[in-house]
Amino acid sequence: MNERALRRRCRSILRELGITPPLRVPELCRLLGEHRGRPIRLIPYSLPVPGPYGLWIAGSHADYVFHQKETSQAHQDHIVLHEVGHILADHRGDGDDDAVWQDLLPDLSAEAVNRALRRTSYGEAREREAELVATIILEWASVLDRITPRAPGDVSARRVHTALADRQGWL
Ligand SMILES: [Zn+2]
Repeated sequence: MNERALRRRCRSILRELGITPPLRVPELCRLLGEHRGRPIRLIPYSLPVPGPYGLWIAGSHADYVFHQKETSQAHQDHIVLHEVGHILADHRGDGDDDAVWQDLLPDLSAEAVNRALRRTSYGEAREREAELVATIILEWASVLDRITPRAPGDVSARRVHTALADRQGWL
């Protein structure tokens, strides 16, 4: 998918979801899951380091996003948005995710997750697409933040667009 198509798709989905600022990533995932008819389950996890910060596993009826929990909340939000990027850009794997997931249920063993992490990466083009989606959503959120009057008491809301430093190690 080219950049213009991806931007158009992101904008239209965000509009359809009716999201209002400030951006709350778990809420975005909840609405997106409802919109797609496939819940997106966010799973904070102590992923091995070095290694990818996030991992999307497409199950039969839900999408599971593992994300490194040993990092800042803003970084976790960015990791999740990157994985959402893979979901929105339709970067399905080779169709063997169900097998991976069956191994993970009902117990999330470290061994099973590590096996999932060993699969080949999505490739550079797809990683760029996923990161572009994360950037588009963050840009959108920051523009809305600027043009929308902030309600009193909103200061504790998480702001994700400030911490985008680390872009290594995506999956
Ligand atoms: Zn990725």
